[in-house]
Amino acid sequence: MSRFRDSAGGEGSILILSAPSGSGKSTIIRRLLAASPELEFSVSYTTRAPRAGEKDGKDYVFVGPKRFRRMVAGRGFAEWAKVYGNYYGTPLRPLQVARRAGRNILLDIDVQGHRKVRRRCPEAVSVFLMPPSYRELTRRLKQRKSDGPEAIARRLRTAHQELRCWSEYDYVVVNDDVRRAVRALNAILTAARLRRENQRREIGRILKRFGGS
Ligand code: ADP
Ligand code: 5GP
Repeated sequence: MSRFRDSAGGEGSILILSAPSGSGKSTIIRRLLAASPELEFSVSYTTRAPRAGEKDGKDYVFVGPKRFRRMVAGRGFAEWAKVYGNYYGTPLRPLQVARRAGRNILLDIDVQGHRKVRRRCPEAVSVFLMPPSYRELTRRLKQRKSDGPEAIARRLRTAHQELRCWSEYDYVVVNDDVRRAVRALNAILTAARLRRENQRREIGRILKRFGGS
């Protein structure tokens, strides 16, 4: 059994969202979380420096390479990867706790992380968020003003490789309009919640009252 699965059933869903940097993932996640307070966000660890406005413990847990390596050695991550020259990892513990409590948890991870999580947890629901065009992606990265020209060039180069992975995901959403994209994500989330395996506990309770089951 994988380290973050509980075969008893009736657990919360894992929803994975991946996209090339600058596609609008954080923007959409912020709105999604505001609209769905019951949805939990998996706060990753990273060795990259915080951007203006990012809060430690909320957007990421910002750590140095030493602490990150300690977490890897202590098997503290469900998965980790090097992305755009920095290290990022999904802490295992909050994932296990959320799943056992039947809460849905959202993972903002890259294409490598998606592959690793899906291998261990094939029932995870995954969404690839696409920018509407290369030109618009470039515009959004520049407009964000959080990365220098070199970092932007690196993110755009990697975007080409990441985009090729779109077909590995369950759903693809093009982020041309934020509101439309959030609506699409909400629909996917609703469908994930309605999966029969995610309703075992609730259905069990209803059936019990029928006396039979
Ligand atoms: P990511 O988290 O994928 O790296 P961000 O959410 O930081 O991307 O978005 C990058 C920039 O693009 C931000 O300035 C954001 O306001 C803008 N943005 C996001 N979605 C849209 C959209 N649909 N239309 C126009 N601008 C957008
Ligand atoms: P950013 O630096 O723009 O916040 O994120 C860069 C990339 O790292 C994004 O593709 C994001 O999805 C990815 N990322 C964030 N956290 C994790 C994580 O815990 N694991 C993996 N594999 N990727 C992550």
